[in-house]
Amino acid sequence: MSVGQQQESRTDAEFRAEVRGWLADNLVGDFAALRGLGGPGSEHVAFAERMEWDKHLSAAGWTCLGWPTEHGGRGATTSQQVIFHEEYARANAPHRANHMGEELLGPTLIAFGTSEQQDRFLPKIKTLDELWCQGYSEPGAGSDLAAVSTSAHLEDGQWHITGQKVWTSLAHLAQWCFVVARTEPGSKGHKGLSYLLVPMDQPRVEVRPIQQLTGTSEFNEVFFDDARTEASLVVGEVGDGWRIAMGTLGFERGVATLGQQVGFRRELDALVELAKRTGAASDPLVRDRLTRAYVNLEVIRAHVLRTLDSVTAGVPGTESSVAKLLWARWHRDLGELAMQIRGADGLVTDHDGLDEWQRLFLFTRADTIYGGSDEIQRNIIAERTLGLPREARP
Ligand SMILES: Cc1cc2nc3c(=O)[nH]c(=O)nc-3n(C[C@H](O)[C@H](O)[C@H](O)COP(=O)(O)OP(=O)(O)OC[C@H]3O[C@@H](n4cnc5c(N)ncnc54)[C@H](O)[C@@H]3O)c2cc1C
Repeated sequence: MSVGQQQESRTDAEFRAEVRGWLADNLVGDFAALRGLGGPGSEHVAFAERMEWDKHLSAAGWTCLGWPTEHGGRGATTSQQVIFHEEYARANAPHRANHMGEELLGPTLIAFGTSEQQDRFLPKIKTLDELWCQGYSEPGAGSDLAAVSTSAHLEDGQWHITGQKVWTSLAHLAQWCFVVARTEPGSKGHKGLSYLLVPMDQPRVEVRPIQQLTGTSEFNEVFFDDARTEASLVVGEVGDGWRIAMGTLGFERGVATLGQQVGFRRELDALVELAKRTGAASDPLVRDRLTRAYVNLEVIRAHVLRTLDSVTAGVPGTESSVAKLLWARWHRDLGELAMQIRGADGLVTDHDGLDEWQRLFLFTRADTIYGGSDEIQRNIIAERTLGLPREARP
């Protein structure tokens, strides 16, 4: 049975009650103060405290839900994972600190890693003893990821890595980075790339924070100057890095996106309240935009639920491109609507800096860029689903 607003099976309903009960019992005391904290534009907020909360969740078995039990996960079904994310967002629990390890690298190692790599890294992802960052984008390789020029070669039993990554989220907090590097000299495009696991704590790795529109620094430039990692820390075959990198992207677009939409719903509800409080709700144009936002969010939810099974298969298909286009535009529009409702007040800050609406407005400018820009998603749909001629490539 599909999940969503249809009748839930008894086991799913019991699972929902268990999650809801656990969150109510545990999001108390010091943890209660963390409600709603963190997330894009606010990753720096209460990071250490949110790590403690994540560890608490982990100890109780509420992290790595979709991982198989033999790898330390909960072996939860897709519908249980959806339910967990929905309840988590509904409880306004803090934003998770370990997204990269738990949702991206963990599933990648389970699917493609050796048993030594799994034994070495999965337990520390689960306990949050090691945080990860994603070393894909470079100054000349963003949308065109296959243009990666960071290079790596084997010497004296180690990979030697040289090059620059950019926009590397949370690299300043991570102990490890999964890096796409060119390991066949002279190779071009998708060929000759490898997926390496590189420790960040070494003198040959330099992390330089980049300041965002929000004034905070959540992403970074990362420079590898003959940095080292062990020869065995390549995921998949040497030269097969493109396939592994695409596998990671497939996991990135999985179940967690539904929890994100419950968060969007909470933002919309709060904006409706703000419009009522400020009187903006009497403006027909504002009413129209709020109503449209409500309807479009229902459409996104229906699309994601309908296509979840193909997305969780681990290969990004055109369904996830449709979803990305819809939610990125929706969220960016919500930020703009928030500013319209705030009116002139929205243009000034007090000594505490940006408020939640200003931060939403500024950070959502990034939504149509990261995880594949709008233009790239449209290209994917045009070529793979509509069968339009491939765009000219150099
Ligand atoms: C908040 C945020 C967090 C990020 N975190 C990470 C991270 O942790 N790790 C990581 O590796 N990367 C990360 N990124 C990088 C992100 O993946 C890239 O920004 C994205 O892939 C776009 O690449 P680019 O910035 O180089 O832009 P470009 O690729 O240079 O694109 C510039 C513009 O040209 C358009 N364009 C490019 N090619 C085409 C084409 N063929 N057809 C039509 N239009 C085109 C794009 O749509 C865009 O509008 C992050 C980005 C952001 C904003």
